[in-house]
Order: sequence, then C-alpha cells, then structure tokens
Amino acid sequence: MNLKILYIEDNVDDQAILRRYLEKTGLDFELECQMNGRDGLRSCASGKCDLIFLDYRLPDMTGLQVLEEMRKENVKTPVIFVTGQGNEKTAVEALKRGALDYIVKSEITPGKILETVREHVFKIRMPEDFPIEFSAHLSNLFKDHREIVVKQSNDLQLSPQFKYPFDYALDNLKKLAEANVLSKRILQTVMACPACQSYQYETLMKCTKCGDIHLVRGESEVEFERNKSLYHWFRCSNGHTSNYPSLTYKCSRCGNEFNLLNARIDYLYSYAPTKEGLDLLNLSIRMSIKTEAMPVEEAKAVELPKIEVKPVEEAPKVVEPQKTEAMPVEEAKAVELPKIEVKPVEEAPKVVES
Ligand SMILES: [Zn+2]
Ligand SMILES: [Zn+2]
Repeated sequence: MNLKILYIEDNVDDQAILRRYLEKTGLDFELECQMNGRDGLRSCASGKCDLIFLDYRLPDMTGLQVLEEMRKENVKTPVIFVTGQGNEKTAVEALKRGALDYIVKSEITPGKILETVREHVFKIRMPEDFPIEFSAHLSNLFKDHREIVVKQSNDLQLSPQFKYPFDYALDNLKKLAEANVLSKRILQTVMACPACQSYQYETLMKCTKCGDIHLVRGESEVEFERNKSLYHWFRCSNGHTSNYPSLTYKCSRCGNEFNLLNARIDYLYSYAPTKEGLDLLNLSIRMSIKTEAMPVEEAKAVELPKIEVKPVEEAPKVVEPQKTEAMPVEEAKAVELPKIEVKPVEEAPKVVES
C-alpha cells in the first residue's frame, strides 16, 4: 500500500524538489502535483490522497483560501501548509483553518520531509486514538523480543516486562493486528465461558445418573471368552457406575456452568510486528515524547491468560506453528484431578544461539 501525496504548488522546481526528497525517504509513494488552487481542490474532492502539501502562493488563490474551501467541502485529508520564511503568522492562520502542520519552504530537507511525512503516515496507519505510550512500549519490547505470546495458563503473573494490565494490552494488540501493524498466528484453541468469555474455569466431575460429585475410580479385571481385560469405571456414592463421569465446567468469574458443546471456542494468538508495523512502532517512541503520558488503568485482579514476550531469535524467518502438547480439553482437565491448582510447566528460556 503506497502513500498518495498531493502537492498544490505552481512552481515546477519546488515540485521537483519535493519529489526528489520523497524519493530519498525510501517511502513507497505516488506524487500528484496541481498547479493551482482550483485543480488542487478538484483532486482533493476525489478523496484519493493520503496527505496534501499546500503552498501559500498560488496563481488563482492563496493557500489559506484553499484551506477555507477544503473545510467547506469537508475534506478530511491531512494538510501540511508550505510557507515562505518569515510568514509564521500565515502558518499559524493555516493551523487555525485546519492545516495539521506547516513547513517553511527554505527549511525543507529530505530529513524534515521524512519526519513530517512519517508522522502523518503514523496518524493515518495506526488505529484511531491509539495510545502512543503503548505502541512505544511495544516498540521497545520488539527490540529484544521476537513476539508477544498470549497463552492460557493458571499462572497469575504477567511477564514483568509487560507493564500493562492484561485486558488493556490484549485489546490494543487486537487493534494493531486489525491495522496490520502486527501479524498474528494462532497458538492454540481454547475453551471459554459462553456467558462472560473468561478462560478461567473449574472442571466438575459428576455422576451421569444422579449428578453426585462424590466419585471414586476403579478398575476390574473381566474375563470374556478367556481373554482378560481391564475395565475402568467410576462410581458415585449412590452406587451408580459408569465408564465416564459427566464433565462440566464452572466459570470462575461468573459462576456459569457449561459443557464442551456449548462452550465458547476462542483462539489465543502470538503477535509479531509486520515490516511496516515495526517502522510505525519505532516512530511512536519519538512521537510519545511529544504526547502527554497517558495514565494506564490500574492493574485489576489480573485476568487470564498471561502475556509473554519471546526473545528475538536469529534463526530463520519461517515461523513454524508452535507445537504445544495439546490434549483434548476434557482429557487435559481430567488429568488435573483431584482438585489441586496446577502450575503451568515453566517454559525453558529461549536462549539466543550464535
Ligand atoms: Zn449417581
Ligand atoms: Zn463466565
């Protein structure tokens, strides 16, 4: 996806300079130039540009008049006002009329253009009102870590490197994935409460006939036509026996009981930056200095699952889907009995091998 830039400027030398500078930035762009205000406005009206550079001196009208027309025509594209030296008053006037920024013509350098354009690309490409503090934090994390892993676990600790509350973090990771700043891949399929979507629940074993929860397990040797085999059974305190107890799940958050068939099925993902996304996240570090620090919500009783960050691997780029020892849910839960809170198996730290 390239950046469509419109330059409303009657001086062809200035047009050429902007084109050359844009080329030096390495950005993927398309530049359209219009020689006067009327033609410029017509191009904006098509709504196909991402960013507009608007010169103050135009043959048919001033840049300020063009801004006025844009406002009337409800043009939403960000405008960078280009003005001559000593015309700061005009620049301020342009900002009042809706220009997002201004740039002094004699001070235009490739670096300045890069900075200006990137900042606006950032605003265009990032999700609306995205907390810059959070993306700056991600940017720092991705310097040392390949991906952020959200996984089911009974561990109530967030990774110490991840300073945001889980709900807040997951919500923003999802937004970044939708905006293609992050790519995501499925780590595992998990069961969640159909009522409140919590991933935390207890497994209840009950007698299939009377619902009794006091079960014992046993096995008997049976002989049939001289073949001996083991027969497993569960027996409740009322004397009913069955091959398997009924398994239901009780949500730890809302108390709702559900079974495998009416459970909500969710996916847990790991997130890694896309190539363009990494640039955007890196930009947010510089931009966060300009923005007031956003207060982070108080960390509530931390929700499952936990978020982990994985160290950068210098290994090949191809990422194989992680092979977790995925057991069918009911089997996995059954193993946890009797009811003792099971701590997750610690993952061996990923060491960067040289
Ligand atoms: Zn029973
Ligand atoms: Zn629930």
